[in-house]
Amino acid sequence: MQRRPFLATLGATAAAFTTGARAQEVPGKKLGWALVGLGSLSTNQIAPALAKTKHCKLAAIVTGTPAKAETWKKQHGLQDSHVYNYETFDRIAENPDVDVIYVVLPNSMHEEFTIRGAKAGKHVFCEKPMGNSADECRRMIAAMKAAGKQLGIGYRCQFEPHHRECMRFTREKVFGPLKFIEAGFGFQIGDPTQWRLRKEPAGGGALMDVGIYALQTCRYLTGEEPVEIVAQEIKTDPVKFAEVDETVSWSMKFPSGVLASVMTTYGFNGTNFFTATCQNGRFGMDPAYNYDGLKGWTSRPNVKLAFPAVDHFQAEMDAFAEAILNDKPFAPSGEEGLKDLLAIEAIYRSIREGKAVKVGAV
Ligand code: NAD
Repeated sequence: MQRRPFLATLGATAAAFTTGARAQEVPGKKLGWALVGLGSLSTNQIAPALAKTKHCKLAAIVTGTPAKAETWKKQHGLQDSHVYNYETFDRIAENPDVDVIYVVLPNSMHEEFTIRGAKAGKHVFCEKPMGNSADECRRMIAAMKAAGKQLGIGYRCQFEPHHRECMRFTREKVFGPLKFIEAGFGFQIGDPTQWRLRKEPAGGGALMDVGIYALQTCRYLTGEEPVEIVAQEIKTDPVKFAEVDETVSWSMKFPSGVLASVMTTYGFNGTNFFTATCQNGRFGMDPAYNYDGLKGWTSRPNVKLAFPAVDHFQAEMDAFAEAILNDKPFAPSGEEGLKDLLAIEAIYRSIREGKAVKVGAV
């Protein structure tokens, strides 16, 4: 499985639900995380980030590959009793060392393992995109509510200081009211055999995988949901992209009158930015969505957009743990993931129907 050299996100609205008092979740405790799926993201980003967190530790692994289990056991000092495969996963319910299930599987498997995690009585942190459809997201939210446990979505840019400062710029109208957003995120995808290029596991192509970051930017900068979307798709390699989208551009109208022009691609490198134009000035980021090396700018010399690098994964996992330990709602929650899927479904619908469409309701 090949991974691209970057990635990022954001989320916006709070939502979430209270989870009731939990005796075992006392402040000061480090929550035990079980990683489900030991692919590129778990190996290269999440495990190293977990080791740096304040409130979390790696407690268990879930993998279908015995050789990986051996390597991880040795590397992270895990006992056999804390190693599961996809069939034995449900026994994790009996493991008191596991507080949180982190779903890091291909997109089509997020729903199943979130719901099984809920049934095991665990909190769940799920990678983006939350699911392959809005209905999957709704079922995941319902299962977590029924279990009385928290659901968080891996929108790591929401915990990154440049992105957070941009949210403040628009919320506090530092440059006046927001008027127009341009955003894009894409890369040239390699290995033609990977799951990201198949509809069943991936749900879609560039849009589901990385376009979602640019979509999130528009949603968190406006703090609103798009009401109308018009989209176009182009394929330069109809064989490689037979099942999923290669390049998509779309335009979104927001209720307050903001217009956004957004693109995503699996066809070429170089697009990784956003620009926000407000009544009295502009700001943006380029690159905007990498794991590090992010750069911000503003049109005013006295308003800086520059912060030291943070580990996005460390920050989001600690924030999720803090929400659980303090029994506070976590954002970005499942509602946030659902709202992205509603917009994504509207984008695909607009492409199919060749016209502007309304975005579905939560
Ligand atoms: P990957 O292909 O590297 O890993 C996927 C893992 O799932 C592998 O360990 C694989 O063995 C396992 N798996 C189990 N059943 C499988 C099946 N039927 N087909 C394929 N693999 C199967 O993928 P990844 O890059 O680690 O991505 C995993 C998830 O994380 C995806 O949902 C992706 O969107 C998300 N992701 C998020 C970020 C971010 O910045 N937040 C970055 C990369 C990936």
